[in-house]
Amino acid sequence: METKDVVIVGAGPAGLSAAIFTSLDGWDTLVLEGDWVGGQAAIAYTVMNYPGFPPGDGEILIENLKNQVTSPPPKGTGAEIRQEKVIKIDAENKIVTTDANQYKAKVITIATGSRMQKLGVPGEEEFAGKGVSYYAKLDYQKFQGKIVMAVGGGNSTAKSALLANTTAEKVFLIHRRDSMRAYPPMIKRLAKEGVEVWYNTELKEIKGDESVRGAVLFDDQTNQEKEVSLDWIIISVGTEPDIELAKEAGLDFDGCFVKVDDSKMTSKKGIFACGEITGCVNHLVTCASDGADAGMAASEYLALEKIKRGETFKGAVNGKYAEEYVKMLEG
Ligand SMILES: Cc1cc2nc3c(=O)[nH]c(=O)nc-3n(C[C@H](O)[C@H](O)[C@H](O)COP(=O)(O)OP(=O)(O)OC[C@H]3O[C@@H](n4cnc5c(N)ncnc54)[C@H](O)[C@@H]3O)c2cc1C
Repeated sequence: METKDVVIVGAGPAGLSAAIFTSLDGWDTLVLEGDWVGGQAAIAYTVMNYPGFPPGDGEILIENLKNQVTSPPPKGTGAEIRQEKVIKIDAENKIVTTDANQYKAKVITIATGSRMQKLGVPGEEEFAGKGVSYYAKLDYQKFQGKIVMAVGGGNSTAKSALLANTTAEKVFLIHRRDSMRAYPPMIKRLAKEGVEVWYNTELKEIKGDESVRGAVLFDDQTNQEKEVSLDWIIISVGTEPDIELAKEAGLDFDGCFVKVDDSKMTSKKGIFACGEITGCVNHLVTCASDGADAGMAASEYLALEKIKRGETFKGAVNGKYAEEYVKMLEG
């Protein structure tokens, strides 16, 4: 079993930012990612609200961040990212089990973020990956000649529909309310680019054979159901925190979020958490900041533990930190 100072679960903005701070302080840091590096940020369309990043594709921002995390100093911080899905966290013994390996860590930071919310309608699970998807950005190249329906009322849904419209034969959007939450310019763009919006319309069932062929929709105003033919459905109705691992690890919760103290430590000693699983505001900048806080706190914790064991700790900046900790312990 490999030993690491810090194992971070999840390579989204929170996990990667935490890695910057622990690896800069010299702790051997490993980030484990089950899907794609960057999490939700990697599939963001045009990120316009990240300081210092000119409006652009989330993928570009994440590529920069990944290089910053993994490149050896001075270009980066020299942490490692491995493509492994974590299947279990033993919080008491600080052992992380993945689909490929097991790691013994001194600190574990959980940054598993959020996953797309399911609608829970019949056919959704059966056709997942066969015409039902949650991220247009990953699938829109397959939409040539297809009729695509986007479900939801927010900016993500509108962006999904607009992206699908660049390749599909026809795109329409359904929303269960009588107005969309998406920004007005986005709604105008939908109209300008010929994406119909069907308000007061709910998806009730997804139908098909090998793949999606149609959907049963319910019109809230006429109280009538109708069946439409289509080839692809993009469900974009929000996200929910990805908390299974944290739950199984026996951590305390605050509602549906992992509970952390001011230093981002969970109810288990040496287990930190950051980003959307802790209820952080759903933005790149806030989750990155939360990850930075968790990274700094983990670094302090590791230093303090070393000093408590009577081991020498040189500290990140010429021993300055070590002196502070010793004083703190003496006080
Ligand atoms: C389509 C879309 C567009 C967006 N656009 C913007 C925008 O323009 N501006 C903005 O500020 N915000 C935007 N956001 C929100 C922003 O991306 C998120 O708030 C942010 O990414 C959350 O960061 P996080 O690190 O907490 O979680 P996430 O980004 O969700 O990352 C969590 C990571 O953990 C991994 N993980 C989960 N479980 C495991 C496991 N068992 N083992 C290993 N890895 C695991 C996941 O695969 C994922 O990579 C957008 C989100 C979406 C979905």
